[in-house]
Amino acid sequence: MIIEKFTGTPFQQNTRVVVCEETKKAICIDPGEKSKQIVNFINDNDYELQAITLTHAHLDHVGGTLYLHEKFPEAEILLHKDDEELYYNLPLQPISMGMPPAQLEALGMKYENPPKLTRNWKHREVYKVGNLKFKVLHCPGHTKGHVVLAEETHKKVFVGDCLFEGSIGRTDLPGGSHEQLLESINENLLTLGDDFTVYSGHGNETTIGKEKQTNPFLTGAYQIGRGRFV
Ligand SMILES: [Zn+2]
Ligand SMILES: [Zn+2]
Repeated sequence: MIIEKFTGTPFQQNTRVVVCEETKKAICIDPGEKSKQIVNFINDNDYELQAITLTHAHLDHVGGTLYLHEKFPEAEILLHKDDEELYYNLPLQPISMGMPPAQLEALGMKYENPPKLTRNWKHREVYKVGNLKFKVLHCPGHTKGHVVLAEETHKKVFVGDCLFEGSIGRTDLPGGSHEQLLESINENLLTLGDDFTVYSGHGNETTIGKEKQTNPFLTGAYQIGRGRFV
């Protein structure tokens, strides 16, 4: 299993290309922006891009989907249905975040309509990429249709904006829910096993075990509703 990270966008988002070493089949998780580097990485290594797999539809995770789709039109595009509305409204996302329309171009946030999705993720489906098997788990809370992809043989999980080293995803954007996010993390992530490596949409890699022990949102140090550490 090869995992290549590309960090981009004004939000320092982590896009990853994950490859099955034996078959050279690959997926791109969350192409946040137009990136020639990603295209070159795939082509120079003769990888076959099977899919563009989206954890959720925030602009910093899907902004590069159109460009990648144009380069690899055969690759399917997958997203949970509960984030479809957000996805197809990509050009409006920066405005709803408070960015002035006149400055979108300068900010690098002027988006065209994204390409049509091939199909939607189903909760608990197993998605095969060569010999890699990703279990897809619906984890709402950061957005309504957020999913994570867990590769159980290699003990790696791609969590988008659900969980970060020492933190969790923000829940103040439309469709967000703090309680739901904690429930998703407890049910779908903490049950994976302490030795799983966690690949987040922003920041460093971590492990489930380390987060269980030290993440204030998971240890109970940060209490819901109190808005402070206790
Ligand atoms: Zn997000
Ligand atoms: Zn993000």
